[in-house]
Order: sequence, then structure tokens, then C-alpha cells
Amino acid sequence: MCPFGGRLVSGDPSASIFSTAKMVAHALLVEGADGLTLVDTGLGLDDVRDPARRLGRGFVLAARPQLGEAHTAVRQVEALGFDRRDVRRVVLTHLDVDHAGGLPDFPEADVHVYQVEHDAAMARATRNERERYRPCHFSHGPRWSLHAPGGDRWYGLESVRAVGDDVVIVPTVGHTRGHSAIAVRAPAGSSVEWLVHCGDAYFFHAEISDEPWCPPALALFQSTLAVDDRARRVNAGRLADLRRSHPELALFSAHCPRDYERMRAATSA
Ligand SMILES: [Zn+2]
Repeated sequence: MCPFGGRLVSGDPSASIFSTAKMVAHALLVEGADGLTLVDTGLGLDDVRDPARRLGRGFVLAARPQLGEAHTAVRQVEALGFDRRDVRRVVLTHLDVDHAGGLPDFPEADVHVYQVEHDAAMARATRNERERYRPCHFSHGPRWSLHAPGGDRWYGLESVRAVGDDVVIVPTVGHTRGHSAIAVRAPAGSSVEWLVHCGDAYFFHAEISDEPWCPPALALFQSTLAVDDRARRVNAGRLADLRRSHPELALFSAHCPRDYERMRAATSA
């Protein structure tokens, strides 16, 4: 995505405020003995073909997504030599357009999500939620696997096991009512134990650093979009604490290009 705002969004001090910034939509593809698991889907094929209708003009104008089939998860899965049916399950941080838009491309997958988030996306109770959740992404009838609140604890946080012990839904609400981080156990021999897809719990890598900071336009955007901004800030603080006290966790944001490059280098090494 290429929103306007330059350094006010990217944090790059050399960028003009009239330039565009770059934000990624980070998905994880996990290869296991029983098929593939996709964590978040990004935008889907129908979204890139008909963006105004599928995503809404507000999202298209604000986020300015690069619309190409090659960017979609399904085309990237195929480019790796898999079939879309090899994706047996999709686990979602939340159901905003830029995270769940690709769901229709994987109609046979089990779709794991925190129940609270599913219910919010179906109810679309507020104007904010009517904008962010698009019925066209769910009208094909996903095979929902809904996870109720209350479960084991994971590193001291409330959690819900999604698929066995290797994929854990960790509610980090605020951005949306049921927003969650998704922790995936790292392969044996990795330098870390868990990859933690933090979705939109924070947007900029430095937000969970020892000296938390976020570019001002990005900070305003997050506060405006949050259904509960206080809860969002509390949960971002919890993620910062986790990062500080547990170097065996690799946390990353859905949209931070710096996090994306760091994770890409680490996982392709
Ligand atoms: Zn997002």
C-alpha cells in the first residue's frame, strides 16, 4: 500500500511529506505435515479486479493499494509450486479488508478466527465496522472455526489454541473488537521459538521498542481506526514487554516494511 504522507507515515526523515510511503500486507505461509496454513490473506483476486466495489472507495483512496494479481496470496502460493487447495487452514488476525480479502480464494480451507472478531464482522454494528468489514469477503460461506474467549495462557497472556499446540491465537483487542496476534511455532533449528504475527496491534516497528515512537500520521490513523484505543495501547505495551523479556519470540507487524524485510531475511536464511 502506498498512502500519501511521506515521512509522517514512513518515519523516514529524508522523505517529503508530499511523497508516498510504503506499507506491506504481511502474510505467513506455514508448511506442515498436514498441508499449508496461511496466516492472514491480504487482498484477494476479486479485490484487485474490482477494487472500488470490493474494498470501498475510502480504503482505496487512503491506502492506495498496488493492485496486481501477482501480489495476492493465492498467486504467491501457486508461484511456490502449490495448489490453492493445499492451503488447509487460514488463521486470521482480524477481518478487515486488507487481512481477510483473500478468503474467497481459499474456499475449502478451515478459517480460524477469534469468535469475538467473527461476531463483530457479521454484525457490522457501527459506521466504522460497516466500512472495514465487507460482506463480499464472507458471502461464499467460509468454513469458520471459531475460537471462544478464555483459554490457556501463552507467555502470560490470555490465549486460544487454534491448531494443535503450534498455532496460537492471542487476543490483542483494540484495533478491532476481536483483533488477535497469531503465534506460530518456528521450525526446529530456528534461532527463535515463535513467529508472532501481530497484525494491526501496532503498525511501526519502533512502537514496541525500548523508546516507543510512531510517525505522527500513522499514530493518528491508528487511534482513529481503533474501536477501543485505550485497549489498543495497553496491548501494544504488552507486546513491547514480551519483545523485551523474550528474545526467543520474533514479533512483527502486518504493515511495517522494516519488520517485513527483517523477517524475510531471517526466514529465507
Ligand atoms: Zn491492516
